[in-house]
Amino acid sequence: MRFVDEYRREADARKFLTAIERLVTREWTIMEICGGQTHTLIKSGIDRMLPPQITLVHGPGCPVCVTPLELVDRAIAIARRPEVIFTSFGDMLRVPGSAGQAFETASTSGAWRGAQDLLSVKAQGGDVRMVYSPLDAVKLAQKHPDRQVVFFAVGFETTAPGNAMAVWQARQMGLTNFSILCSHVLVPPAMHAILGAPDNRVQAFLAAGHVCTVMGYWQYEPIAAQYRVPIVVTGFEPLDLLQGLYMAIKALEEGRYGVENQYIRAVTRAGNRAAQQLVAEVFEVCDRPWRGIGVIPASGYRLRAEYAAFDAERRFGVGDVTAQESPLCIAGQILQGLKKPHECRAFGRECTPEHPLGAPMVSSEGACAAYFNYGRT
Ligand code: SF4
Repeated sequence: MRFVDEYRREADARKFLTAIERLVTREWTIMEICGGQTHTLIKSGIDRMLPPQITLVHGPGCPVCVTPLELVDRAIAIARRPEVIFTSFGDMLRVPGSAGQAFETASTSGAWRGAQDLLSVKAQGGDVRMVYSPLDAVKLAQKHPDRQVVFFAVGFETTAPGNAMAVWQARQMGLTNFSILCSHVLVPPAMHAILGAPDNRVQAFLAAGHVCTVMGYWQYEPIAAQYRVPIVVTGFEPLDLLQGLYMAIKALEEGRYGVENQYIRAVTRAGNRAAQQLVAEVFEVCDRPWRGIGVIPASGYRLRAEYAAFDAERRFGVGDVTAQESPLCIAGQILQGLKKPHECRAFGRECTPEHPLGAPMVSSEGACAAYFNYGRT
């Protein structure tokens, strides 16, 4: 397959690894933003092949992982209503809400199991459906005018255009039975929060190529300048990541900062302007809570007032549903690069992919799931 096989060749990987080994003179900590990148790094063993001076930490770029627990509870509350068809991408269906979670210590293992999720709502008779696109949910709303169709709109800038398109199209069609439960988050404010924290250890970033495909990378330039860090826009195949790491380490060793683009086959500095315009038409920037991290100012999207009729929280009155995190889960520290998944005392004990305690163990992009599945214990 073009653009896949050629980015997985072992001989080329060895060349990059040799070049990195020659470059490194001291210890560096580098964060990949995206959970998809985390999985490639761990699955392909890149983390183990790098020189010991390089520490990889895993960022907050897994949308499922940073969606607040209360949003999951709100989704469950809406999905239980008999008039609702609740739609979502597959990952969100298995994320446990707070119901059934216990808050015992690790020594009372097992007590939390049985946490409620959207799939269990489906098992109990709720109409919960997995879709591949928010536009599929719009089609469902057209097909079932007597039902309320809700789409769980989570994610970063990558999924925002599709969700904006769904809302825009629903309005054009005059649909009154379609809405979204929205929890969009933005990458640049999270980078600010990580770099500005007093205990920050991140010295360079691999930025997520797909986010930059939509937004470009001009927004990262002031961040790189303010904190004097290299940021390399990077793709998702093993050779993409090795090249991104090589570029970041080279910049670190040479004392350079700024933004570089490894993912030139997909990303331009300006990004996709049509998608940006559509997002700006439907959404506006707002403060957003990030799971485990807390509220980051101006770090998310909400529907503009003109599109408020499509806001599921408003339509179903679930805005006051709150939730309490289990104290066992240290996902927030992992997503800020302060700890590694196996440093969580619940990792592989109370928390496994079969019985996840926190979102990073559920999601296919979660760092905890990657460490568990590929034996980083
Ligand atoms: S292993 Fe990860 S998801 Fe599980 S409790 Fe620990 S930090 Fe949370």
